[in-house]
Amino acid sequence: MGLNLHTHLEGWVRPETAADLAASMGVPAPDGGWEHALRMTEPADLTVFLAHVAAAYPVLGSAEAMRRVAREAVEDAAADRCDYLELRFGPSTHARPGFDIPDVIAAACAGLEEGSRAATEASTRTAGSRLPAAASTSCPTRWECSRVHPDFRST
Ligand SMILES: [Zn+2]
Repeated sequence: MGLNLHTHLEGWVRPETAADLAASMGVPAPDGGWEHALRMTEPADLTVFLAHVAAAYPVLGSAEAMRRVAREAVEDAAADRCDYLELRFGPSTHARPGFDIPDVIAAACAGLEEGSRAATEASTRTAGSRLPAAASTSCPTRWECSRVHPDFRST
């Protein structure tokens, strides 16, 4: 069983997804391209790590983008044999005019739910484990916004 209890959503952006989103949002590619900007190939200090995380910020400013990235994060974690994934993100970091903090959270949670559902369906076909995914925010209060897997839904 694989558990990932603390990972940042921005670190899961696929370079090809960033390129797609950037093209649709009019965001220029970073120097060296998205693969170079988003992927770390060797250990580095926190400053370098945060620069890679921040490289994803320009392409996460829409509901469609946030939803897609969250869904793909869960898909990639499931493919990496992760059974539980807890993603953190800062809603205020990605909020823009017309894409407010509640919209950011809702889009991320929708993506996590889609990814969890797809991972569950895939694992049912292969008799593997299911992947619950949870979202939590990096707001100052660090409140947990949602647990999206039906087994963990609190309502
Ligand atoms: Zn962290």
